[in-house]
Amino acid sequence: MTNDCIFCKIANKEIPSEIVWENDNFLAFADIKPIEEGHTLVIPKKHFDTLPDLEEEISKDYLDVIKKIAKILIDKYNADGFNIVLNNGKSAGQIVNHVHFHIIPRKEGDNKKGLTLG
Ligand code: 5GP
Ligand code: ZN
Repeated sequence: MTNDCIFCKIANKEIPSEIVWENDNFLAFADIKPIEEGHTLVIPKKHFDTLPDLEEEISKDYLDVIKKIAKILIDKYNADGFNIVLNNGKSAGQIVNHVHFHIIPRKEGDNKKGLTLG
């Protein structure tokens, strides 16, 4: 863990979060400012700043975990689809420097046209 990383503290349960799913290496929890109902963040419990920093052991399992969480969210929120976003690096909008995928459940007619860049 790095000293002041808020997601490390969430992973270590030093800061509470609404947990969606976890195993030994990953945690999925509700975003504190959801842009849509069910907006969830998926992190490795071990700290890595960005996607290219991930060790192979983690990166090879990450997509399977994301698929699992997406299925959980579709069932839980009766969603039709979902957006997956990863802001990698400050210039790309990464604010929390502990790698995380956003999964945002979507429904027909939810009035958003899809997430756009820029
Ligand atoms: P980024 O811009 O780094 O991709 O997104 C960071 C995300 O983390 C934001 O959507 C923000 O709402 C969320 N976030 C920041 N601090 C906390 C927190 O303490 N708890 C939770 N659950 N989410 C947080
Ligand atoms: Zn961290």
